Amino acid sequence: MDIKSLIRDIPDFPKPGILFRDLTTLLRDPEGLRYTIDAFAQKCVEANLSPDYVVGIESRGFIVGPPLAYQLRAGFIPVRKPGKLPAAVHTVEYQLEYGRDKLEVHQDALQEGTRVLIVDDLIATGGTAKASADLVHKVGCNLLGFGFIVELQELEGRQQLPDLPIVTLVEY
Ligand code: AMP
Repeated sequence: MDIKSLIRDIPDFPKPGILFRDLTTLLRDPEGLRYTIDAFAQKCVEANLSPDYVVGIESRGFIVGPPLAYQLRAGFIPVRKPGKLPAAVHTVEYQLEYGRDKLEVHQDALQEGTRVLIVDDLIATGGTAKASADLVHKVGCNLLGFGFIVELQELEGRQQLPDLPIVTLVEY
């Protein structure tokens, strides 16, 4: 299946100069959704990625993470923006284009040695995925790799990430 044909390009969103790759049109398509998740899981298996938990990054990692976790027979753990998780959290701070931001995960969700796969819908600069990797490493987890439906190659986001397997389905 041609996944790209179901991804919609929106120029100048959310600000001038950004070409937004809109995956809602792919997710809306019954066959597109099924194929995408099945292919994503298949690629993870081929890359020998069998995590205890899929860690999804807010917010679009919450859309692709749970069905992938289900297919891999793993659990799902959300990494969220500050102040959203109700129990005690671990926090990581990271640099944005302008200013800084934080990501959080529940302290009791992850333990030392837990095997995790970090997923998001798309990798652009890699800053968010890198911060999530720092967060799970801080806890002492065994980070197995990363998964993204889309990679924006010219932004070289993968250079930011630790040297681990990265599964992607579509490259621009
Ligand atoms: P980054 O930290 O730069 O890799 O950005 C990753 C996050 O921003 C992902 O969760 C994406 O959903 C979103 N994102 C960044 N750039 C784009 C884009 N051109 N089209 C769609 N989503 C984007």
